[in-house]
Amino acid sequence: MPHPIYIEHGTGAHFTDIDGNTFLDCNAGWNAAFLGRAHPAITSAVHDAMTTLGAPGGSMHPSPKRDEFARLLCARVPGAEKMVFAPSGSEANTYALRLARSYTGKQTVIRMAGGYHGQHDALLGEQSSKTGTAPAAQNNIVTVPFNDLTAARAALEAHHDTVAALIVEPMMTIPGAIHQRGHYLKDLRTLTTEFDVLLILDEVITGCRFAQGGASEYYGFDPADLVVMGKMLGGGLPTAAVVGRGAILEQPISASNTHAQNPVTLAAAVAALELSTADEYRRVASMGERLRSGLRACTESLPIPVQITGDGPCAGIHFTSDDVHDYASADAANDDLWRLMCVGITNRGLGLTSRTFGPTIAWTDTDVDHALDVFSSTIVDISHAASATEVSTR
Ligand code: PMP
Repeated sequence: MPHPIYIEHGTGAHFTDIDGNTFLDCNAGWNAAFLGRAHPAITSAVHDAMTTLGAPGGSMHPSPKRDEFARLLCARVPGAEKMVFAPSGSEANTYALRLARSYTGKQTVIRMAGGYHGQHDALLGEQSSKTGTAPAAQNNIVTVPFNDLTAARAALEAHHDTVAALIVEPMMTIPGAIHQRGHYLKDLRTLTTEFDVLLILDEVITGCRFAQGGASEYYGFDPADLVVMGKMLGGGLPTAAVVGRGAILEQPISASNTHAQNPVTLAAAVAALELSTADEYRRVASMGERLRSGLRACTESLPIPVQITGDGPCAGIHFTSDDVHDYASADAANDDLWRLMCVGITNRGLGLTSRTFGPTIAWTDTDVDHALDVFSSTIVDISHAASATEVSTR
């Protein structure tokens, strides 16, 4: 905002627009580039696959890269015995719902208010336009607030005969890095097992960002029945997958897709997995922690209230005095100040395109310092401007 930035070139954690302005990428290429832009290993994997195989769709005649990738991913993600490929997170979630409904023979799906799972008609949420979708698609969807175990239990009790699955992002990302409180995810795992309902973790954003095995490894809870991954999975190229229990993945759903299993994409995906080591995850998470604590330290004494949320490498900023733990509390924050901050940081060289942001493997400590400087000075400026003009700070 207030206008799109056209990128002319970029490497690592930085990109330059057509006017010559350089930005630190705070959103990892919309969460698709954990290794940064133009990583040499990705570039060379793509080049090799392109020159030896070309880039047709891969589904009908898979390349060995497909099995190499599947083996690597299933070895990392707890509970992953088999996988289904998809070209995007939206399609992977579509398949996850089909798998769950086919396996259980039930239709109802419980989702979180403010959760985003892509473009499936049934899963479009509060922030997405529903124009042009069939209203009936949402008939079997029950919505509960994130971080509220009592509400999840009540929904399961009310619909226990018909619920196939509960779908949740380990950290809500669209409303701004809303992290679990207490052991919410572990408790959800226990609750869904108690009601014999499948737990689908939508790890399209967190999966390749928190730990090699995703959120269940990072937070330490029993594996979900299905895990959906995408975005960073392809090293910047489009790929996604559903992994999980073999018996569920073996359901004979329709999942044919021209661009799933593309050999060039999967070559990049294999390279990305190999470069995403446990040490790198620890380094990136500690940069995320430093970013969040630095932001907290700078905003504590300001005349406007600010909440800093997030976990691992991800952070969110909310202009409110209330604790932000679900969609409603995030939505109640001051949006004008958020937008003002976005303009300020953009003018000062931070590339931010969504409310969840933070470091990637391509960042260094100097980038964290730079991000903190820019966020801090911008928030200080807008807080003074807001108190001077008596903008509502809610
Ligand atoms: N799930 C989550 C949690 C997402 O953040 C997104 C994309 N923002 C999707 C699913 C959809 O993925 P895609 O855009 O690749 O269809």
